[in-house]
Amino acid sequence: MVNDNGRGTGDFGAIGRVAMVSVHTSPLATLGEKDAGGLNVYVRELSRQLGRRGVAVDIFTRRNDPDLPDVVTLGQNVRVIHVSAGPPAPMDKEAVFDVLGEFASEMALFARHDGVTYDIVHGHYWLSGWAAVLLRRYWDAPVVQMFHTLGRLKQGAAEAVGAADGAESERRIATERRIMEAVDGIVAGNARERAEMTWWYGVRAPKICAIPCGIDLSLFRPRDRAAARAALDLGPEPTLLFVGRIDPVKGIEFLIDGYAELRRGWRGAERPSLVLIGGELRQGPSGPELGPDLAGVRALAEARGVADGLIFRGPQAHDCLPYYYAAADLTVVPSRYESFGLVAIESMACGTPVVASRAGGLAYTVEDGQNGFLAPYGDAPALAAALDRTLGDEALRARLGAGALETVAEFGWDGVAERILALYDRVRARRAAPRGADSAICAGD
Ligand code: UDP
Repeated sequence: MVNDNGRGTGDFGAIGRVAMVSVHTSPLATLGEKDAGGLNVYVRELSRQLGRRGVAVDIFTRRNDPDLPDVVTLGQNVRVIHVSAGPPAPMDKEAVFDVLGEFASEMALFARHDGVTYDIVHGHYWLSGWAAVLLRRYWDAPVVQMFHTLGRLKQGAAEAVGAADGAESERRIATERRIMEAVDGIVAGNARERAEMTWWYGVRAPKICAIPCGIDLSLFRPRDRAAARAALDLGPEPTLLFVGRIDPVKGIEFLIDGYAELRRGWRGAERPSLVLIGGELRQGPSGPELGPDLAGVRALAEARGVADGLIFRGPQAHDCLPYYYAAADLTVVPSRYESFGLVAIESMACGTPVVASRAGGLAYTVEDGQNGFLAPYGDAPALAAALDRTLGDEALRARLGAGALETVAEFGWDGVAERILALYDRVRARRAAPRGADSAICAGD
């Protein structure tokens, strides 16, 4: 079989079949709701990219609904496998840890019945990393791990601002350390995360490769602003956009404080509005109603006297987001902790500048005065000043928008998927090397 790229199936180097492990959240989940965001997009898109290059990919995720079929085709050469482990119902993330042994043995059983073996196991998040480590009881395949968020770093970000909700379980942090010791290769989103893993977890640097997340540059590209605004039924006023899960790390309170501060000092003719995408909308008797998290956001905005400027759109299909980014004047990413921050890159790829907090991966992608502005997390006046300056100056926005388009070139999936494949190859080669070989798995290290 010949794929889009003219390569035969399973033709890429030594890698013919990959097991992606995403135990606690599925690539088929509704994005923007609880526990479904960047990780899900990454697993889905990377798998599709590999599939198009002729690599067969099976994504293993926990069955959280008894009616789910065992196997769902997600794209060319890509399947989602629903694995029964624990009750076929939603489970709290921490509780999922207790069913990982069952998950790993069910995965192994599936492969045996299906008659397949894997060249690489790629774990996502600490829970799947541990499942991948447990799989070694059954399989010999090397393991590559991507954490997406790290307990120690997330907790550190919370401690730095005195947040009460930031404690991560000892078990999580200890397990992350054990995964780092056990696996063959680790993907960090950027050089800083790589350095932090070495510093906080003591993992050897040659094992870690910094490869950014990818985005689909054919989907996320500039589009006509006026047409997008009309299609989305947005008014003529200056518009800020927030896209993300409603979770304390996403900094929504900081955003509302910054927005209130902006509104207090605003001198323009039309009051800026703030469009919020993500969270939970429920069907009520007279139309969609805000779920508890979004109701909390509205209550906070009411307390600050700015609820009239908020436009709640709930979770939106990934394919719709380019229109929102195009319609907005600015995207705000106010996170307290962000390992990578796909939303910032997606917005930039649509030519819309970003105002973000100086947190984790955002400090790598958002460059002050080049493609947006950074503000210290929690400093509402600084956030408001950055928003005010950019919203009030069309020429500046245009310049930042042009800078944003330059920034995103390196995040296209083509390059990123090739780098991941090359990493798989090196990890396999290192596994096969004579004992004592300790070459870095990351080119250039
Ligand atoms: N997303 C989406 N629809 C929504 C909300 C979010 O498609 O309603 C996507 C968004 O486009 C991005 C991802 O979810 O690709 C969020 O990734 P990010 O890295 O910004 O945050 P994370 O969820 O990983 O913390």
